[in-house]
Amino acid sequence: MSSHEKTGVLSTKDLKLPSKEHLEKGVAIIECIQEIPCDPCVASCPVNAISMKNINALPVVDFEKCIGCGKCVGFCPGLAIFVIKSRDDKALITLPYEFLPVPEVGDTVKALDRWGNIRCDGTIKQVLKKGKTMVITVEVRTDLAMEIRNIRVYA
Ligand code: SF4
Ligand code: SF4
Repeated sequence: MSSHEKTGVLSTKDLKLPSKEHLEKGVAIIECIQEIPCDPCVASCPVNAISMKNINALPVVDFEKCIGCGKCVGFCPGLAIFVIKSRDDKALITLPYEFLPVPEVGDTVKALDRWGNIRCDGTIKQVLKKGKTMVITVEVRTDLAMEIRNIRVYA
């Protein structure tokens, strides 16, 4: 049984993880675990880095092809795609965000893990509006690059 089937929350054990080199250039991590008929992520990618065997299969990222552009993040209705770029002591996490208030570039926010626990402070580096989903890039400690998946903003 996978870790998320026991706990209801994904862990890195459930994921196909990129290499250090892939993380340094920045790549998409897809945390989509339900086999449902859905595929906008595939069409959103400008370099065809996301593939699916069929409409019900889980999407797979080709880390060699992925250029870390983040376009897929705002197209996923399941809010299941993140782009991670990690180097030295800092990591950039690009994540989908649908809460209010929306942070501004330069804000300090709380960085949360998959369980919703506050793990560190983060600095907002980019805020993009993609349809109803904001695509936010937050800078955090590199050692938390594969853990931070949300933010909490205080007004
Ligand atoms: S980050 Fe860009 S290149 Fe990578 S999978 Fe997403 S859309 Fe494709
Ligand atoms: S768009 Fe999102 S929810 Fe749909 S298959 Fe792709 S990753 Fe999964």
